[in-house]
Amino acid sequence: MNVYLDHAASSTPRPQARAVLLTHLDAANGSAAHQRGQNTRAVIEEARERVAAAIGATPHEVVFTSGGTEADNLALKGIIWAARDARRTTPHLIISATEHAAVKDAAVWLAERGDATLDLVGCGPDGCIDVDQVLGLLRAETALVSVMTANNELGSINPIAELAAALAPKGVPLHTDAVQAIATLDVNVTRDQISALAASGHKFGAPQGVGFAVLRRNLPVVPLHHGGGQDRGVRSGTFATALIASVAAALDATVAERQQLVIRLNRLSDKLAANLTTLEGVRRNGPVDPTRRLASHVHLSIDDVAGELLGLRLDALGIATSGGAACSSGATTASHVLVAAGITGTPLRLSLGWDTTDNDIDTAITGLSELIPALQAHPGVWA
Ligand code: PLP
Repeated sequence: MNVYLDHAASSTPRPQARAVLLTHLDAANGSAAHQRGQNTRAVIEEARERVAAAIGATPHEVVFTSGGTEADNLALKGIIWAARDARRTTPHLIISATEHAAVKDAAVWLAERGDATLDLVGCGPDGCIDVDQVLGLLRAETALVSVMTANNELGSINPIAELAAALAPKGVPLHTDAVQAIATLDVNVTRDQISALAASGHKFGAPQGVGFAVLRRNLPVVPLHHGGGQDRGVRSGTFATALIASVAAALDATVAERQQLVIRLNRLSDKLAANLTTLEGVRRNGPVDPTRRLASHVHLSIDDVAGELLGLRLDALGIATSGGAACSSGATTASHVLVAAGITGTPLRLSLGWDTTDNDIDTAITGLSELIPALQAHPGVWA
């Protein structure tokens, strides 16, 4: 049995992305003046144009990064520091309580060193923020709001376009971590009035180690990396040509297939959830409305089962999943997302990707339908 249901952590590279990666492995330096360098530069700029078109940005607004973490850090620190420099007052930052650590920890770090004052906006039991609650936290010094497009654990989709439309007349930029969203949601920074965005290739079929930030024109950003001045000086460092070409290829394939994929993944994730929630003590979390949750995510709470044991037994069965719990000092505790949403029980995230098959889902249903009651019958038994 080999079933991979942890695509939210890292998905399978798409064939198009693999092929392009190999093609450009021996690329010259894209900043070099010689012909080979110029050929490389053409590959990079073409990739930038394709990424920009797919996301509703101009090529100039796309900055290639090492992944989602770097793109989030660039947006948060870069925008806050630029606001501090321009206004000479301490900028105010609002983030949602369910942000990934790439946003949350960057925001807390900025606040701890006195570079920003920070407010967290809570979420409902479905994991979604409320736009009015964000607006209620705005102050004259608010320099940035950061709310993720979709949550990595629950798959909850936030009302980003509505939030951005409310912030735009007030001149407050919105950064959105779209890392989990790109695989299945049509994200468009122009249509949705998004000021900054973070994306990560390995969540939608590119290899690990590449992603991009979108930083809209006229949005001042202080660079985190200084050096050769690549990417309009916002992100210095020799271009990772093969990875950049590969992330563009993966995004093209994602956009081309997305509508069909969403239909298929909704069918598969609903089948998975419908079967597993017939078991005693198993609940599905996240929004009930299917248009408010990612087609790729099934998040369950399971009563009377130890999370660590469940994960180990599933792994032994060849079913890769995620517990969605943070382990600190040897104790397994509920993640900040589950605490914010008030979700109890042992968490289990099953996340599907572009290559998930009907057979994978049937196998997972069979395995979990036997395992969960068996573990519930013997709580605390490890063998
Ligand atoms: N943001 C979200 C919502 C994520 O799920 C992740 C990765 O799990 C990240 C950011 C970090 O992305 P990366 O692994 O590319 O640094």
